Amino acid sequence: MLREETKKTRRTGKLTLEELRELVGTGEIDTVVVAQVDMQGRLMGKRFQAEFFVNSAWEETHCCNYLLATDMEMNTPDGYKSTSWEAGYGDYVMKPDLDTLRVIPWLEGTALVLCDVLDHHTHKEVPHSPRAILKKQVDRLEGMGMTANMATELEFFIFKQSYEEAGAQGYRGLNPVSNYNEDYHIFQTTKEENVMRAIRNGLNGADIPVECSKGEADAGQEEINVRYSDALKMADRHSIIKNGCKEMAWQQGQSVSFMAKWSYEAAGNSSHVHQSLWGKNGESLFHDPAGEYGMSKVMRQYLAGLLKHASEITYFLAPNINSYKRFAEGTFAPTKAIWSLDNRTAGYRVCGDGTKAVRVECRVGGADLNPYLAMAALLAAGIYGIENELELEPEFRGDAYGSADIREIPKNLRDAAQEMKSSNMLRNAFGDDVVEHYAHAAKIEQDEYDRRVTDWEVARGFERA
Ligand code: ADP
Repeated sequence: MLREETKKTRRTGKLTLEELRELVGTGEIDTVVVAQVDMQGRLMGKRFQAEFFVNSAWEETHCCNYLLATDMEMNTPDGYKSTSWEAGYGDYVMKPDLDTLRVIPWLEGTALVLCDVLDHHTHKEVPHSPRAILKKQVDRLEGMGMTANMATELEFFIFKQSYEEAGAQGYRGLNPVSNYNEDYHIFQTTKEENVMRAIRNGLNGADIPVECSKGEADAGQEEINVRYSDALKMADRHSIIKNGCKEMAWQQGQSVSFMAKWSYEAAGNSSHVHQSLWGKNGESLFHDPAGEYGMSKVMRQYLAGLLKHASEITYFLAPNINSYKRFAEGTFAPTKAIWSLDNRTAGYRVCGDGTKAVRVECRVGGADLNPYLAMAALLAAGIYGIENELELEPEFRGDAYGSADIREIPKNLRDAAQEMKSSNMLRNAFGDDVVEHYAHAAKIEQDEYDRRVTDWEVARGFERA
């Protein structure tokens, strides 16, 4: 009886502030997660007592400005222009974007809102905040009378161990939930429904319309697909999905990992990005029935922009040392920046040919990308292609892995970061300070790795060197 009543009254989906106030009044919501997205694409923020949030904190709160200048482990590396020990690590304003206010069904009595990050004194958006970077590119498109529809697919591995157990084991001897390649397998994925059904229903109830989940091409690997939406909404959803998947696996005493490559033997985790441009009246600007594969001139120019700048934007699709371990031949992870129709060996795959849904899928990104930065970089390159009316090169056909002399994706962080740092296209689109900020982040990641001694080196050389 009680369960039925709870079910009837339990709200899901998006909320207005007024609706939240009502739910706080009835006691249905008592906690509001107020979060911004950091450089790694993670949710960072505070949990508010809901009464306090609806009375005052909905207008703004604050956080330490080191949140946009840390590495994966929350260290405080020197050398950022935006903040430092010397500057005293002051505050940023966190300004809730009430359009993102929603119920989080998998956490009892909880709602969540995402924030823009503002300068404490000027109240202007912090230029290197990932959300601000994406909004700037979305605004440029808006000025051209266009909107981008995007979808980021996310792959991840599910493990039998909890995060705590995995850590205690030193991340060795981990057991994925299955012991065979489960690509499209129904029976094996039935065995994972304790996590995956919770994820699908949970996300759906948080206003993230799930299309499907499926087994992926390795033991214990899953993919979650959600309906495409405008770029900012998709990036917001992507960050909530990642955090939510971790929370829901953790609730089951298990863990998931979005590392681009968690093991030498295992497949990589990708985050392919589907992209299309639309006009003010809801018409696809990518579709022209008379064009090759139904591609319009705008789509060809956009795609030409992606290809021209493929090396420069790779850093934002593969921001960590580990991201580059995924780019291996014959693994469905691309190694070449060429375009091709429905060809999974290509970095840029055209799909939905001949229909209104004709689009480009960038297959370069790993599941460790920051969705705001990845989409912003893709849009900046595509906009360049349209503004400069670039010609699209002929389609590549066949197995891109086995073909020499075609455009390669940078194979390591050092090269990708160098390409990003010297990109005039990115400097013009993002601003010099923003590019320098992320180039510094890349340098920190690289420097840290360069002085580490890995298991592989020790096993190889301990006796034989
Ligand atoms: P795949 O064969 O790559 O798995 P799907 O048909 O499953 O392709 O679609 C993948 C994603 O593309 C879905 O998230 C879907 O919402 C999205 N998508 C569909 N049409 C468009 C479009 N026109 N623009 C952007 N994304 C789209």
